[in-house]
Amino acid sequence: MPKQLVVFDFDWSFVDQDTDRWVFEVLSTELRRMLQKRKSAGTGMQCTPDVVNETMEDLWKAGYKQDDVLSALRQLPLHPAMKRAVTSLKQRSDETTFLCLSNSNTVYIGTILEHHGLTNLFSEIVTNPAHWDASHPDHLHIGRRLPSTSPPHGCTVGCLANMCKGDELDAYLSANGGKDSFDKIVYVGDGGNDFCPLLRMRRGDIGYVRKGFELDERVKEEGEREGLQVDVKLWEQAWQIDEYFAEL
Ligand SMILES: [Mg+2]
Ligand SMILES: [Zn+2]
Repeated sequence: MPKQLVVFDFDWSFVDQDTDRWVFEVLSTELRRMLQKRKSAGTGMQCTPDVVNETMEDLWKAGYKQDDVLSALRQLPLHPAMKRAVTSLKQRSDETTFLCLSNSNTVYIGTILEHHGLTNLFSEIVTNPAHWDASHPDHLHIGRRLPSTSPPHGCTVGCLANMCKGDELDAYLSANGGKDSFDKIVYVGDGGNDFCPLLRMRRGDIGYVRKGFELDERVKEEGEREGLQVDVKLWEQAWQIDEYFAEL
């Protein structure tokens, strides 16, 4: 059996929602609005975990509890067909490894996977760090994958300051035998920041790009110019990923 790496973006790819927005949408319209204001403020080069972190502090100050946040996350939609797609692929192929590359955070992703019995699906989850405050257990802190005190990542295709997904994919591959130790790498994504890792992949690898989302636009507008080599396959709904995975 060929050795394969399946890389998943999380929001709107693995799950059918944006984790950052969802928690506020479930709990407080006022704070959902506040998140929106913070996102659109400034230069447009906003750093997602920073604005979520600020708004989480407001949520805690407004009296919401850790359980409120966790229960909101447990209600977040993960399509049964996506669950079927990954569990059946994992079952039939020992040689397939799953990696999660996400701009969400460890607490959000860990809670959702645990709720669905998928804690052991991913061999590694590369995302922003988060933790409950030691003295105020209802206050969730969310940081940056690449701390603001570290040198910038130098990505030139537009990754946010807190994480270059292309660099993270390369680092994972180097730490796991190198790119060539995998016969095939596939990537399921939707966002603008999923374009960078696709550029690091090879001819014969596959990018499952969610149709009509920002990644789809970037692939069309910049793919050729940036030398994109992967086969691009479009999907709209989770059942189509199940169909594609059946071919792996
Ligand atoms: Mg996404
Ligand atoms: Zn990048």
